[in-house]
Amino acid sequence: MSVGRLLANVESIESWQVDLYRHLHSHPELSFQERETAVTVGRHLRDAGFAVQEVGGGVVGVLRHGAGPTVLVRADMDALPVLEDTGLPYASTRTMVDASGATVPVMHACGHDMHVAAAVGAAALFAADRSAWRGTYIALFQPAEENAGGARAMVDAGLVSLVPRPDVCLGQHVLTFPDAGQVGTRRGPMLSTAASIRVVVHGSGSHGSMPHLSVDPVVLASSIVMRLQTIVSREVSPFDFAVVTVGSITAGSTANIIPASARLLLNIRAYDAQVRDHLVEAISRMVRAECAASRAPREPEIEVYDTYPLTDNDPAVTDRVTAAFLDHFGRERVVAEMPPATASEDFSTIPGAFGAPYTYWGFGGFPSGGPSVPNHNPGFAPVIQPTLRTGTEALVVAAMAYLDADADVPSVRGADGR
Ligand code: ZN
Ligand code: ZN
Repeated sequence: MSVGRLLANVESIESWQVDLYRHLHSHPELSFQERETAVTVGRHLRDAGFAVQEVGGGVVGVLRHGAGPTVLVRADMDALPVLEDTGLPYASTRTMVDASGATVPVMHACGHDMHVAAAVGAAALFAADRSAWRGTYIALFQPAEENAGGARAMVDAGLVSLVPRPDVCLGQHVLTFPDAGQVGTRRGPMLSTAASIRVVVHGSGSHGSMPHLSVDPVVLASSIVMRLQTIVSREVSPFDFAVVTVGSITAGSTANIIPASARLLLNIRAYDAQVRDHLVEAISRMVRAECAASRAPREPEIEVYDTYPLTDNDPAVTDRVTAAFLDHFGRERVVAEMPPATASEDFSTIPGAFGAPYTYWGFGGFPSGGPSVPNHNPGFAPVIQPTLRTGTEALVVAAMAYLDADADVPSVRGADGR
């Protein structure tokens, strides 16, 4: 197996790779503003010998070594509007202006800095010893995963016509489970499909002492919030996963005025597109019916935004990558039947555009038994090692399951032919 030959160089890249991780962590950038990160990534890829293009705010590097399969490895680059509270010496103190014009703190609170550092390291390892593999290795760094727009932006900018069509796509995320040093995979649904929904209901304003002259949107919105709870409890099968969350409710400004409208912001999750469509239909139906019940003077406005596709791991690709992980990491470092996560990703938009099968796995960022803080929390601080090395090795091992120069690779298609 040539994977050992590639990974023989993993120690020699460690010092600059850790420096790169710390640099990225202290220089986070918001979604669709990842300019410095993209420049840094592009420089590393060019120095390693990749042919580099900037596509839709992302960076994609192609490295060829003869005939063979094409593997695309994807990392995301964006950070979040979170005020870092980790106490780390390399903590971010950055602020940026967000899309609405507000100045906000910025933090790598979802570990995308770990994804970038691992993927840059893996790219360097593939470049350092081309004799170990054959085929085409594509390193893709996308913007704006956190607002569901980045993968789509790269596809819309012509990604499919700019790089060779991959036979398989690979992605990963640093998580609180499994433990640091471990990887976790599963066949089938790995991450949920998600959407956010903005609802504005219209009433009729009045003096707080004269409710009979109003159509009160506060009472109407409250009824909607309670009624929506019955979608998951009464309409969705107990065997299906579904979440309906009302994350924001806004109406009025003072005690003695009944306002004219109310706004609700909803978030939904499912592991099945049909269940997701049912949630959207039920929300729309219930909102309209509650408006009618309250004699609302106007139809509500209902807008679906920030939609995430289902991350649904191809069984054949997942089996092959999991076998390679077991071979390399050993049984105690691989969780092969990881429970699906309720979080969501736009990663599958990229293999979807190519019609390529894919697998997506998690790797741990927190030591077993130690404190662990969830993604998006101001205290999110994965341990650098063994996390970074595990993420780097996982990418190399998974890609080498297809590119190994010594292996006989009869077929690279997923079982379902996608
Ligand atoms: Zn995130
Ligand atoms: Zn993330």
